[in-house]
Amino acid sequence: MDIQQVGIVGAGQMGNGIAHVFSLAGYDVLMTDISQEGLDRARSLIDGNMARQVSREKITEDEKNVAMGRIRTTLRLADLGQTDLVIEAATERETVKTAIFEDLLPHLKPTTILTSNTSSISITRLASRTDRPEKFMGFHFMNPVPVMQLVELIRGIATDKETFDACLGVVDRLGKVAATAEDFPGFIVNRILMPMINEAVYTLYEGVGNVNSIDKAMKLGTNHPMGPLELADFIGLDTCLAIMNVLHDGLADTKYRPCPLLTKYVEAGWLGRKTKRGFYDYHGEEPVPTR
Ligand code: NAD
Repeated sequence: MDIQQVGIVGAGQMGNGIAHVFSLAGYDVLMTDISQEGLDRARSLIDGNMARQVSREKITEDEKNVAMGRIRTTLRLADLGQTDLVIEAATERETVKTAIFEDLLPHLKPTTILTSNTSSISITRLASRTDRPEKFMGFHFMNPVPVMQLVELIRGIATDKETFDACLGVVDRLGKVAATAEDFPGFIVNRILMPMINEAVYTLYEGVGNVNSIDKAMKLGTNHPMGPLELADFIGLDTCLAIMNVLHDGLADTKYRPCPLLTKYVEAGWLGRKTKRGFYDYHGEEPVPTR
């Protein structure tokens, strides 16, 4: 299966990182979002991130220019119909994702592989809402995409071998490493990571420690490169809450109940780095704990 044109839906933190790595690996990228502003912001972020790679001599100026030239953007989802592989990386809400697939399907080539970068939503259920469950997979990148090595590949119950092998080939060409997960809530990474983050929020909620001490304890005490609250802000608190809800609903175990404090931050619109405020405030030079 020859994959050259890649469509990306959603130009947020993940979408722009995905566009970045695909264009550098030589794929033609067509990215869409709901606003031109979002697409422009993504392009300028990619440009800045690639410029940093040039200054660190990871890539050359020429490679950057060629890669940037391979990224096109459009506001019309239908334009992605002619691509060989679509990666949906829109907001982590099932209704958003199913509406995107519904709008896209009438325009899609029969051979196109459809994938979702969802952190937690059932691949089998998303696939069942499309005309091609055998050509549907979970293609789960880690944040930040240009830095993180891992891609989780998730097979839905109907995914065929040809589709899985084609995605494995893509991961290889990106210079990344795949881990295969079965389609259960949270897959591997988030099934383990999110309960830890949620527990960190509980320790804050119950006053066991403040933001600084919780993050310091986990960084220095368990050798994690980031503390759990810092990491939650980085991922996005709305995404963390959405994943906890999927674990809670999908595994029907109270041990996955989202911490009320996490819900409160999300309700306040304090979503972490992307809104400049979460467990830390990012308006100044240095992040300042909000509790
Ligand atoms: P984000 O909020 O940064 O970006 C989401 C983007 O989707 C926004 O630009 C939004 O405008 C766009 N969007 C919403 N509805 C759309 C529509 N109908 N059509 C096109 N675009 C639409 O979120 P993110 O962190 O980039 O997460 C995107 C996906 O990646 C989610 O499924 C999330 O679970 C997954 N993911 C996130 C992380 C992480 O660390 N943030 C890691 C792995 C996977």
